[in-house]
Amino acid sequence: MTEALFQFIWQHSLYQVTDLKTTDGEQLTIVHPGKLNKDAGPDFLEARIKIGKTILVGNVELHLKSSDWLRHGHQHDLSYHNLALHVVYDNDVDGVAINTPVLVLDGKIPAHVIGKYDVLMQAGNQLPCSDQHKQVRSITKEGWLTRLLAERWEHKLSDWNVMLENSAEDWRNLLYWRMAANFGFKTNATPFLLLAQSIPLNVLGRHRENLMQIEALLFGQAGMLNASFMDDYPEKLQDEYSYLRKKYKLSPISAHLWKFLRMRPANFPTVRIAQFAMLIHKSEHLFSQIIETHSIKEIEPLLDVTASDYWIDHFMFDELQTGPGPKSLGKSSIQNIIINTIAPIQFLYASRQGAASLREHSLNLLEAVPAEKNNITALWADNGWTANNAAQSQALIQLYNNYCSARRCLECTVGLNIIRQAT
Ligand code: SF4
Repeated sequence: MTEALFQFIWQHSLYQVTDLKTTDGEQLTIVHPGKLNKDAGPDFLEARIKIGKTILVGNVELHLKSSDWLRHGHQHDLSYHNLALHVVYDNDVDGVAINTPVLVLDGKIPAHVIGKYDVLMQAGNQLPCSDQHKQVRSITKEGWLTRLLAERWEHKLSDWNVMLENSAEDWRNLLYWRMAANFGFKTNATPFLLLAQSIPLNVLGRHRENLMQIEALLFGQAGMLNASFMDDYPEKLQDEYSYLRKKYKLSPISAHLWKFLRMRPANFPTVRIAQFAMLIHKSEHLFSQIIETHSIKEIEPLLDVTASDYWIDHFMFDELQTGPGPKSLGKSSIQNIIINTIAPIQFLYASRQGAASLREHSLNLLEAVPAEKNNITALWADNGWTANNAAQSQALIQLYNNYCSARRCLECTVGLNIIRQAT
């Protein structure tokens, strides 16, 4: 028995709930166990307890041993006076909580509850419930995935809210920064974001119709034009950048921030910057288009960009490669941007506007995108839980990273359902 498991058992009433008596022999019924308190003070607040014919509403403190009351010094703490109930697993010392009825749960907890918890905690594989989660009903799992997605977005969007405040509530700017970070994908998200933050959006806007100037600004600010080149194209970019840099008093980021190692050439940041330049060049009013559009068929063409002609046979400046062809963003990258930028920004915008139907649209958008394929979704699929769409794959990633890896099975709906099933 651990404290966490004991709290879990109390919270979900996983003990024998009939014929309960206090240590003084009075009949006891738990009408409501109370709300789990994660702050200082008693473990559960506002519980409803019936002792004899009297209903008490108050707080409940749990301990594995009654003597823990003294060990924790509760006798000196006013917030532990006048509790509704002291619940212990083992009543090793009588009468520690003055004027507080005591319930002892040793012998009242079914063996399967502890047994199933032990199996989850001791499983040696990456997914401790790989064998048992199939017993849990699909509807229960789907409801849990919906809550996990909300949790994932809540965490992600709290950072975005800060960014929005830092950009004077300019949604176009937020989209520009987040889109840039997304073009860096996992490996180059940070330098891409720094790059975007180093060039005001209105500067790019002034040069939007001239692709070479957009590229000059982006490659120059990325620190990638600070070299001697053989090809005409980077030399022209250098000339443009040298003029624009002085004009707008810009300072480039360090070229050392960019990572090329172990990447497929098609994902090199040089190629991604050229694609991002094309997105800026071809998009007018991108933010309003993105906020107003809720079908994949309409969003995909907005993001379907191809790097300029120089990149047809280059992945790097001055390194000619015959045969690779035009560098389009590609369907899976577009889907990645819908999942990680478009749907969340639509959701945030709808939430800030208080528009519930728009929020629904952003979730529907995610459900229309195929599930992501990565190590985590493959692990779930190998263990019999396949995501049907991107909303579910995002939720399964959240579940694995934040619950399964940390063995937080007691805080997981799947874990609760496994532990409470008798077979
Ligand atoms: S956290 Fe939930 S889904 Fe993950 S292993 Fe534990 S019970 Fe299973």
